[in-house]
Amino acid sequence: MPFAALGLIPELTRALADRGYTEPTPVQTRVIPEILAGRDILAGAQTGTGKTAGFTLPILQHLGRSTHLPKAPRALVLVPTRELAAQVADSVKSYGKYLKLRTLVVFGGVGINPQIDALRRGTDVLVATPGRLLDHAQQRTVDLSKVEILVLDEADRMLDMGFIADIRRVIKLLPPRRQNLLFSATYSEDIRGLAQSLLRNPAEIEIARRNAAVETVEQRVYKVAKDQKRALLSHLIAAGDWTQVLIFTRTKHGANRLTKQLEQDGIQAAAIHGNKSQSARTQALAAFKQSKIRALVATEVASRGLDIKELPHVVNYELPNVTEDYVHRIGRTGRAGATGIAVSLVSSDESGLLKDIERLLRKPIREYPVPTFKPAPPPLREEQERRAYPERNRSQAASRNRHSPGDRSAKAPSGQRHSKPRGPHKADQPSGAGHPQRNQNRGRSRPAHAQRGRSS
Ligand code: AMP
Repeated sequence: MPFAALGLIPELTRALADRGYTEPTPVQTRVIPEILAGRDILAGAQTGTGKTAGFTLPILQHLGRSTHLPKAPRALVLVPTRELAAQVADSVKSYGKYLKLRTLVVFGGVGINPQIDALRRGTDVLVATPGRLLDHAQQRTVDLSKVEILVLDEADRMLDMGFIADIRRVIKLLPPRRQNLLFSATYSEDIRGLAQSLLRNPAEIEIARRNAAVETVEQRVYKVAKDQKRALLSHLIAAGDWTQVLIFTRTKHGANRLTKQLEQDGIQAAAIHGNKSQSARTQALAAFKQSKIRALVATEVASRGLDIKELPHVVNYELPNVTEDYVHRIGRTGRAGATGIAVSLVSSDESGLLKDIERLLRKPIREYPVPTFKPAPPPLREEQERRAYPERNRSQAASRNRHSPGDRSAKAPSGQRHSKPRGPHKADQPSGAGHPQRNQNRGRSRPAHAQRGRSS
């Protein structure tokens, strides 16, 4: 079905043709006519389905109809992260290039004054993260009284990040009569509550099974000892000649450390997380998109929305604590029909998290045998001690081997580790039962105001 059959005007279909899009995606087929008809929307759309164009195209068509150029925005798109804000704004500009409409993006972490100047000049579409938008509202540098269409994109993520109070504050500043479009990958009670208070008789559109992993992504698990993850990862990247890999770690510190280690292994890498300045985040992402660096190491901040054309590899260096985040992370690859590979490095203490993810996916993830790789050297302190007291360490190693023959990979002297291909996770069996405190967050949805940093 061509785009024009959805009722889109030639200015938009031309811009779509320029981008090489010949047919609408399923989410676009469903939401575009509803939005053009002026209805509110509650859409459960998987990441990478083309939902940005799904809401952007009818908004542009609606705004393009009137010829006057008011200064205050008439469409407001709220998104959870700065990267997503920049990306959505780029899409709006690209789809609207044959229309006389202005688009502006505002988010935190960068100077507010240029944004104030730009807002003063006026815009039709405003894309914003909630925190910075409220800063502008407080300083009266933005007028939200003319908003006709409100979009909450990645609404579940915004709630996860603790933005609910900010969102409600923003809504109070909008005129009561407006069209509301809510996009969320998952439906929690909180999302349902927000939808109920926000939407008027919405068209409910569910595109993919909730929490379904992107069909085109091949998922692999390697079971490996924690202290060998880095060596295995470097091996996989080098031996597989991976050109572009997005790696998720659980902590910002972990992301920094892994980035340094990859660099030491000769793999150009950069980190992206909430403690980095916005310019560092933008630079790292740009370098990655342009293939100037091979690996981008990220915390959850990059798990949503980021669109990296034909990204071939995603790695879960550590599994996420919130099971749904797995789906979002791997959704960075295999986008818009392209194929991709998502690799998870799973240590024994993560076996519970893996089970929860498989339950969510309703299928097991295929386990691959760990290839032969050069093991990581032991930590420096151990090394120094070994040199200082060779006798003591020899007898300690012997007694360790006697007591725990089943855990060779974690305890054997480094030279012996993985000297031949290991059977899957023989040496790395889960020890879950002995550690009830581990994985205590498993399977729970993240509460609002959870630990993640706010980005705006
Ligand atoms: P989104 O889910 O909005 O982030 O979009 C995912 C990717 O699909 C982006 O790279 C879009 O540019 C691309 N895309 C959106 N609509 C289409 C389409 N109709 N045909 C091909 N690619 C598309």
